Amino acid sequence: MTVHSPRLRNSSGAELNLRSQILFQEPTRTHTKDLVTAVASWHKTYVHESSHWARYHGSTVGILLSLLRRSRDQLAAYAISHMSQRQTVDLHEHRSSGVPFLSFKRYPQHAGGELKYNELDWLNLYYTYYVLLDPEGLTEFDATTWDTRAAFENSLEDTWRQSAGVEMAERSEDARVSVTGPLKLVHTSEGPLTTRTLFECAAVIDELFQFEGAFLRTADPTLRELLVEEMSGEYGLPWRLACALAGRDLGGSVVLTLIDFALNPVVPGLTSADPSVDWRELYPPYRFAAAAKAMAGWESDLEFQPLSHEMAVHFQHVLAKRSGLRTGRVVSRPSSLSTLRQAATTPMHLVERTPAVSLMCASRLLDLREEDVCALSHYGANFLEDRAVRFVNPDRGMWWLFPVFQASRGEYRWPAEHVNLNEATDLLLSAAVASAYDDILHGTGPLASDHLPRALIEDRGEAEALNQVLKGSTGLDMGWGRI
Ligand SMILES: [Zn+2]
Repeated sequence: MTVHSPRLRNSSGAELNLRSQILFQEPTRTHTKDLVTAVASWHKTYVHESSHWARYHGSTVGILLSLLRRSRDQLAAYAISHMSQRQTVDLHEHRSSGVPFLSFKRYPQHAGGELKYNELDWLNLYYTYYVLLDPEGLTEFDATTWDTRAAFENSLEDTWRQSAGVEMAERSEDARVSVTGPLKLVHTSEGPLTTRTLFECAAVIDELFQFEGAFLRTADPTLRELLVEEMSGEYGLPWRLACALAGRDLGGSVVLTLIDFALNPVVPGLTSADPSVDWRELYPPYRFAAAAKAMAGWESDLEFQPLSHEMAVHFQHVLAKRSGLRTGRVVSRPSSLSTLRQAATTPMHLVERTPAVSLMCASRLLDLREEDVCALSHYGANFLEDRAVRFVNPDRGMWWLFPVFQASRGEYRWPAEHVNLNEATDLLLSAAVASAYDDILHGTGPLASDHLPRALIEDRGEAEALNQVLKGSTGLDMGWGRI
């Protein structure tokens, strides 16, 4: 069994894969009769997926998820390199007989040495990541009885310890993270509200916005109808919930602001040095519901006037007041790197390279957030009218506002003006090895590859090179295309 691959995708199957941070999108299908419509269709898909990139890396919850993932991979690398020979043999035997080396169902499996602690810490980090993003990533492993509070407290503390003084605030040795209040998920009559669906709902609203622009107005109207239809499904759940809680119809622009409020929670160590946080301020779906409820009996200027940075900031301020929930702003600069080349060439462990790219982009996106919050909260507006002009001048160099790495027709693509072939390859190999840790510890059977460009695995030479890197990094005789 392969482990869950977290992804943010649109209806045409394009996706930002959060495991590898690669955007998968196919080129325009030119056999479509109407070329404008074909290009328009590609454009709105690209807006959708790029919005995921910018919202994820430019929000507090996205940065927290990147840090949680890095802590998990660092722990995996450490645990694997400190295993005894007996434990390594066990790992191979477990996996080949279809039993994950670490699993919620069988915990505790390992009584020996440090592995006893690493097992619990790793499972907690995995669990916390998925409860935050999308609990669906956990269902196949029967994690329903896991202690959510202990998982969050331990994982937030581990991550803070790893990142203190760099991406996160300084931490005093005796600071113990505590998460207070009932740790409830948000259930609706249509199913659970998750952080993932908040990202998806926002992306579809961004796509809908494109039809207000001159270009998409000339495209086949069915494109827009398809989006409206999509809104009647899972991706529209947050919008419907918000209207129900507010007791009236809310426009897309308001819903986008509520989502932005939800995606920027209070996080110990990340948004302040206070080690205690209430679940209601931490959990994005809860924040969203509370913000929507705060709209009842209040009509804001945002609903009637053109969007501006000042108005959006003011709106969020009033939302915080009315909901009683603060907004969490990241206090440290998440990265000291400034170019993609530095992220590719600065010496660091393989598991740190993809997060280094994410955090470098996060730093730029957070600067943009301070200057023009709508560029993130209303991402789709970046492609409309006078706002679109900023992309016409390439000197602005806003490449970090879009997914950096892509796969198209199975081939890997990178921004050639920022990294050369060798550097791009190093970044891809690091992403592949870091993503393999989940599989090694928590999956069984062959290593998963659906989050990687197909050509990398299909080319025997490249796959072998990749397997060598994996072996060099983990010491394990394991690889893609083998058991
Ligand atoms: Zn999506």
